[in-house]
Amino acid sequence: MVVIGAGAAGLFCAGAAGQRGLRVLLLDHATKVAEKIRISGGGRCNFTNREALPANYLGENPHFCRSALAQYTCADFIELVRRHGIAFHEKHKGQLFCDGSSQQIIDLLLTECTEGGVTRRQPCGVGAVRAVAEPGPGERRFELDTEQGLVRADHVVVATGGLSIPKIGATDFGQRLAQQFGHRIVPLRPALVPLTFDAAQWARWSALSGVALPVVVTATPAPAEGATKGKNKVKPVSFDEDLLFTHRGLSGPAILQISSFWAPGQPLSINLAPGIDLAEALRQSKQGSRRQLSTAWRDALPEAVPQRLAQAWLQDTAARHPALQDTAAVAELKDKDLDALGQSANAWSITPSGTEGYAKAEVTAGGVDTRELSSQSMESKLQPGLYFIGEVVDVTGWLGGYNFQWAWSSAMACARAMAQS
Ligand code: FAD
Repeated sequence: MVVIGAGAAGLFCAGAAGQRGLRVLLLDHATKVAEKIRISGGGRCNFTNREALPANYLGENPHFCRSALAQYTCADFIELVRRHGIAFHEKHKGQLFCDGSSQQIIDLLLTECTEGGVTRRQPCGVGAVRAVAEPGPGERRFELDTEQGLVRADHVVVATGGLSIPKIGATDFGQRLAQQFGHRIVPLRPALVPLTFDAAQWARWSALSGVALPVVVTATPAPAEGATKGKNKVKPVSFDEDLLFTHRGLSGPAILQISSFWAPGQPLSINLAPGIDLAEALRQSKQGSRRQLSTAWRDALPEAVPQRLAQAWLQDTAARHPALQDTAAVAELKDKDLDALGQSANAWSITPSGTEGYAKAEVTAGGVDTRELSSQSMESKLQPGLYFIGEVVDVTGWLGGYNFQWAWSSAMACARAMAQS
């Protein structure tokens, strides 16, 4: 068998298949192996999540990932990490990181490949991939033109990933190959990506660059292509995570998470004070109080809201509600003005103009339509012997180790199925 792409999914599949008796050739056009793993998780690779469940993945066919995730679970990968003597820790919401560096996960994968007798050619670009129409006895089902000559194989596994971070070797080779064999591609888009705003719209917030705070962010995903109105009604999606202001827009885990669900033109709703009804808190502060609005406002907000943001928010709202001056006595302000201030921060409605694109996106949403793949084996239903694993497939995980878990699970489902065929 040939695996194209020596990233997370390709390396894991190659090692697992080799250990099950298959002769494996692994090809990658990049000079360095698994660069994306190296830069992942801030250099410490968030290699899985203790709670990796189908609900943590998006795609047009949401149940597709269920079988592979059940066949090879996060507990299975944690066990492998332990067997390799890699120390790790849980950071936040089940996210597991190496104590040392991402290189430990790359070394784990390379060791598994060595144990499986895998031959790796890298750098080695791949050109045309042809299916042999009716292979005779002793003939292989596929021929591949590579920079190191013609290769013949019975199984071809495509593990070339998504389009994110083109400068380290991402290409749309896998998606194009899928199309060549008649597969539909769910439109690709950057996901887990910072969101940007029109420069004019953002000018009033850009000075807050670097400000971070916990928020709840909500978006209503666009209905899937072909979805009928009423049926399959899309529900709003919310994340309770940190938000970061940047020079060009918004980032931080809350925004990366919601970006995967955001569609151009749609507003986001951001609650800057989760769990607090700010309008009510401001009304309460009128009782027997001589405080100025700026003090009452600061007191109503959670401590986690930085002072720079509290001040900027009040000034911005005062531009539309002139009564809301910093020095105004809160007891003398009308409820409707206080309500406007409180509600604006409890439900900040803002429409991004775009994203930072593939250069900054952690993953690519969309990919090979899973309705044309076997969920048990990842094999193409259109071309026997052809498999798609990892990010090239239309399965996109949330932020937090879910994407690597999909790489491991889909790779193992494929390796086991090939070994049994
Ligand atoms: P990749 O790992 O991208 O591997 C694809 C391989 O295919 C590459 O080696 C590439 O060189 C090769 N290739 C591409 N085109 C060709 C071609 N034409 N010919 C030959 N070879 C080709 N996910 C997590 O779960 N946790 C994290 O901490 C995390 N951090 C991330 C941080 C960053 C900055 C980025 C960009 C992503 C992060 N991700 C993380 C996402 C995760 O890295 C990917 O989802 C995962 O690597 C996908 O695995 P893959 O094997 O499908 O693709």
